[in-house]
Amino acid sequence: MKEANKSRALLHGLLEILEDVDDGQSRLDRITDRITNILQTDVCSIYLLRSADTLELSATKGLKADAVHLTRLRLGEGLVGRIAKELNPINTANAPAEQGFRYMPETGEEKFVSFLGLPIMQRGTPLGVLVVQSRESRKFSDDEVGTLKIVATALADMTELGKFVSDRHAIAAPHTRSAQFYGKVGQEGVAEGHVLLHESRVVVTNPIADDPQFEIERLRASIDTLRGQVDEMAATARLNATKEQREIIETYRMFANSRGWVQRMETNILNGLSAEASVEKEQSDTRTRMNRAEPYLRDRLHDLDDLSNRLLRTLMGLTQLTHADIPENPVLIARQIGPGELLEYGNKLKGIVLEEGSIGSHATIIARAKGIPLLVQVDGILSEALNGDAILIDGEAGTLYLRPDEDVTAAVRSKIDVRHEQQIRYQKLCHLPATSRDDVTIQLFMNAGLLSNLPSIESSGAEGVGLFRTELRFLAANRMPSRSELAAQYSLVLDSAGNRPVCFRTLDIGSDKLVSYIKREEEPNPALGWRAIRIGLDRQYILKMQLQALIRGAGKRPLSVMFPLVAEAEEFEEAKEIFLRVIDSEKEKRDVPASVQIGAMLETPSLAFAPDRFFDDVDFISIGGNDLKQYFFAADRQNERVRRRYPTLNTSYMRFVQHVVDRCQKSKTPLSYCGEAAARPIDALCLAAIGLRKLSMRAASIGRVKHQIRQIELAKIRHAIDLAQRSSVTNLRDAIIAELGP
Ligand code: PEP
Ligand code: MG
Repeated sequence: MKEANKSRALLHGLLEILEDVDDGQSRLDRITDRITNILQTDVCSIYLLRSADTLELSATKGLKADAVHLTRLRLGEGLVGRIAKELNPINTANAPAEQGFRYMPETGEEKFVSFLGLPIMQRGTPLGVLVVQSRESRKFSDDEVGTLKIVATALADMTELGKFVSDRHAIAAPHTRSAQFYGKVGQEGVAEGHVLLHESRVVVTNPIADDPQFEIERLRASIDTLRGQVDEMAATARLNATKEQREIIETYRMFANSRGWVQRMETNILNGLSAEASVEKEQSDTRTRMNRAEPYLRDRLHDLDDLSNRLLRTLMGLTQLTHADIPENPVLIARQIGPGELLEYGNKLKGIVLEEGSIGSHATIIARAKGIPLLVQVDGILSEALNGDAILIDGEAGTLYLRPDEDVTAAVRSKIDVRHEQQIRYQKLCHLPATSRDDVTIQLFMNAGLLSNLPSIESSGAEGVGLFRTELRFLAANRMPSRSELAAQYSLVLDSAGNRPVCFRTLDIGSDKLVSYIKREEEPNPALGWRAIRIGLDRQYILKMQLQALIRGAGKRPLSVMFPLVAEAEEFEEAKEIFLRVIDSEKEKRDVPASVQIGAMLETPSLAFAPDRFFDDVDFISIGGNDLKQYFFAADRQNERVRRRYPTLNTSYMRFVQHVVDRCQKSKTPLSYCGEAAARPIDALCLAAIGLRKLSMRAASIGRVKHQIRQIELAKIRHAIDLAQRSSVTNLRDAIIAELGP
C-alpha cells in the first residue's frame, strides 16, 4: 500500500474502532492491533502520560500483556521518555545501542531490535508516545514514519477528548484534571477566578475525515479569508504602526502566502486528517522546531504559530474573543504581554499569569500599580488552561492551581482570610509614623500611575505620591493624549491626593514601553537606547506639551516634577531650562503653581559622580533603583536569567547608594528611593539604615514596611551593615536577618 493509502486505511480503522467500541482499554488494544497489521510490524505500543511526568504503557500488541499499566517511565527516561520529553521521533535499527536505552524486562521487548517511536502531542504538548518495533534489524522507512506521524496526530486529538478513558484505568485527559504550576511572583496576592486566555485556544473535535477534496476546499477557503485579514492588517499598519509591528505583519503576510506551508497542510489532508487536524499537525511540527531554533528564528516561528492559531479559528468559525466571552473574575493567561495591551483590559482582571514574562518588565509594573496578583514564567500553563477553567493563584508561594479540587480551594481561601486579617493589623498602623525604636522617622510614600491608584493613598497610610508614572496614560492610548486631557488627569490626581504632595515623573517611554504614535528607529539595545529624558530633549514639543499640562493641571497648587534617566548634569539643566521657560510663558495667560520643585531620577551610575553644581542645582533626587540596578550590574531588568543574580543588598550596590546618600547630605539635597526594593521590608530597612529618609513604594506594601521599621533600632541595623561591609560577604541579607533575630 502507498503511504497515503496506508495512513487513510489506518485512520479509517481508528474511526471504526471509536464508533464500535465503548470501553477505553479495548479501543487502545484494537488500535495497536490494527497498526501492527497494516504496518506489518511485530509490536505496536501506546504509552500515555498519567501525570505531568509519568508515562504508562497503556496498550500493546506484541509486548507482554502483563506489562500494560505496570511499566512506567519518567519523562526523559529510556527511549520512550526521551521522545515525550524532546518531542522528536526516534527511528533505529538497533534500539539497545541508542543513547538512553533502558531495558524493561517485564515487557519482553529484548527480541525486538528495531524501534520507531513518535510523540503523541498536541500543538507541542506531549500526551504520550506511539511505538512500533520489529524483530528484524532495520530502520523504518520515511513513508512508515510519515504514516505514523499522521496517526499520532489523530490519536492526540482523541486522547485530549478523553476517548480512551476507560472505567478501569481512567487516564485523566489533560484539560480536565486539576493541575498545579509554579512561577515567579510579580505581584503578591491571592486570586480566585476563571481563565481568560489572551489568545484563545481551540479544541479540534474531528481529527479524521474521509473526503479529502472537501477538506482541501475548506482549508483553501479559510486560507483565503486569513490572507484577506492579514492584508487588512498590513494596510492599517502602513498608516499607524511602528516599524516593528509592520515587520511582524509583513512576516505574517509572507507565511500566509507561503506555498510550502499550504502544501504541507494539504498533504496531511490527503493522508486522512481533517483540515483542522492538518493545521494542528503543522503547528505541532512548528513548535517542535521552535524549541530547537535560535532565538531570532524562534520569534519568527512564533509568528507562524500565531498564524496557525488564526487559521484554526477561522476554520472552526470562531471569532476573536468578545467582551461577552469574558468569564466572571477573569484571570488573564498569556505567553507575554505588553504594557499597552494589559491596560486595554481596564480594571476587569483579578489575576495575571504569564508563561514567559519577567518581573522587571513594565507590564509587571502595571500589574503592581493595579495591585493585581501576577505570576510570570509559569511553564506549560498555556497548553493546559482553557477559557473558563477555575483557577486559583497563590501569589505568595508562586503557586497556581488550575481546576483545583475542594481541599485546595479551601486551603487557599483560608490563606485569603489570614492575609485579610494581616491587612487589618497593618491598617491599625495607618495613622502612625514609620518611626524606629531609636526614634528615626522614615517618610513612606506611594508609587502610582493610574488615577484609580489614588484612593488607596488614604487606607495605605502613604504621606503622598513619591512617583507618579505619567507614561501609563500614554501607554493606554493609541494616539497621543491631548494637553487638555492630560491637564484634567493631573488635576484629578492632585484632587485625589488632597493636601498630600505628589511628584510627577515626566514621560518615561522607550525600552519596553513603546507607544505606536511616536516614531522610532529599531534599536539593538533598547534599554540602553532612546528612552526617557533622551526622547524628551530630542522631541521637545512632547516634553513642553506635558509640562504645560502639568502646570495647568496644578493651577495654583504646588507642583513637583522629576525627569527620568538623567545621565549627566547638562541633561537636567536643559530640561529644567525648558520647564522654567514654559512656566514663564504660561504665567502670562493663567495662574501658575505657587511653588515648583524640579528633581531628577538617579538611574544611571554616571549621575552619582556628576559635578557638585548638579547636586546644588537640583531640588531633589529620587533613586530609581529598578533602572539603577540594571545599569549598575549590567543586568537587563527584564531578563529573568540575569535579573535575580544581583540583590539590592549586594554590598557593592549598597556602597554605591551610600555614596549618593553622602553626596546628597553634603549638598543638603533631599533624597528618596522609589525602586521596587523600597517595598521589601528588609531592603527598606537597610536603605533607611544607610541614610535614606524617604521611600516610595506600591501602596499595598506600606503597611508591612512600616510595621518592620517600627520594630527595630535603626542604629543596630546600621552597625550590622558596617560589620558585614568590613567582612568579605557580598550580600548583606544574612547579617540583617541574624540581627533581626527569630
Ligand atoms: C526605577 O527605575 O526604579 C523606577 C522607579 O522607574 P521605572 O520602574 O518606572 O523605570
Ligand atoms: Mg526607571
